[in-house]
Amino acid sequence: MKVLVVGSGGREHALLWKAAQSPLVDRLYAAPGNAGMAALAELVPWNGDVEALADWALAEGIDLTLVGPEAPLVEGIADAFQKRGLLIFGPTQKAAMIEGSKAFAKRLMERYGIPTARYRVFQDALLALEYVESVGVPIVIKDSGLAAGKGVTVAFDLHTAKQAILNLLSGPEGGEVVVEEYLEGDEATVLALTDGETILPLLPSQDHKRLLDGDQGPMTGGMGAVAPYPMEAATLKRVEEEILKPLIQGLRAEGVVYRGVVYAGLMLTQEGPKVLEFNARFGDPEAQALLPLLRNDLVDLALRVVEGRLKGTELAWREEASACVVLAAPGYPESPRKGIPLHVPEPPEGVLVFHAGTRWEGNSLVSAGGRVLNVVGLGKTLEEALSRAYGFIPQVGFPGAQYRKDIGRRALRLR
Ligand code: AMP
Repeated sequence: MKVLVVGSGGREHALLWKAAQSPLVDRLYAAPGNAGMAALAELVPWNGDVEALADWALAEGIDLTLVGPEAPLVEGIADAFQKRGLLIFGPTQKAAMIEGSKAFAKRLMERYGIPTARYRVFQDALLALEYVESVGVPIVIKDSGLAAGKGVTVAFDLHTAKQAILNLLSGPEGGEVVVEEYLEGDEATVLALTDGETILPLLPSQDHKRLLDGDQGPMTGGMGAVAPYPMEAATLKRVEEEILKPLIQGLRAEGVVYRGVVYAGLMLTQEGPKVLEFNARFGDPEAQALLPLLRNDLVDLALRVVEGRLKGTELAWREEASACVVLAAPGYPESPRKGIPLHVPEPPEGVLVFHAGTRWEGNSLVSAGGRVLNVVGLGKTLEEALSRAYGFIPQVGFPGAQYRKDIGRRALRLR
């Protein structure tokens, strides 16, 4: 088979690395890919036009396409490929609305009784300000649209809350914000494969969204992840029954068949798991931590999802733990510096490096984005996985690299 991976981050490098192990695969392509992905696949230049990529895939005879990031899904890449009779792993534009519009997702959750924070949606800044004034802090202000994980402000004072509203709603194009009740608890991610009928949860994992140790500093796309997150079986069951099933069945009742991977970002509150957000794709960096633990053939799994054959499929996992530490460029997330020379030696046994914002400039490997490299450690225990990842970082670090020193600390505390 000819398999195409869409995207250029660490998640996509991990998907490509995993796809490359499939006996079903003859040739791999990545659009647009990064320097690390170039070692496994032919890179296809791509400017983000989903119709143009679908035309190219048809002409090239691509048998299966795996989509990493949310933006092309929300743009309708799955529809564009399906229209041409091409197989693509990723939900249609309508199904991807669970991520493309937080307001849509919240209303959907309300209709199907899915536990989540209480909320209000506003397009008018004055009404939003008035509301925040009346309910007080702590409060959470979210950009309803796509914001690469950076459109959320958790405000502990009114000034911050109001500023966030003004930032999101005072632009010329207008906008939409979700103002949401602040939830307390531990955060975890549950991803699940689904063909619109059968739902197969992957191992729980945990992202680290803030830039700095101790969950301080600005929100980022994600600074590290661990898997498996030690979630109690009863809690995972509740996630399946109270969240994933009603979501997929609710969408179906509304005429939308969700095929792909669904991401539930959860707050594990005293009252049980509640949804912080749904995403329409693998998490980044959760995918980098999870995929190395998965024993199944990813391409086979993706075909089962796309063709509606997931029923009866069982997932098999390595009895190991995994930890991913993200190395980000200086200036990330505000204004990451690009063009920093990188040196990535062959990692030792039990360590993987997935590239994110990297590219070749002639013969030199240089940084080309905010999150630059992902160092993944695997081990019998989470401690071992972490110590392998952190042990290799001095060899791949670059001047000004930002990374968290406390990835996995909360998960360790919980066991
Ligand atoms: P989201 O993109 O909606 O998952 O939000 C990004 C991050 O903001 C989450 O990972 C949480 O750390 C935080 N967050 C979002 N919603 C809430 C909430 N209702 N209560 C507390 N923290 C939240």
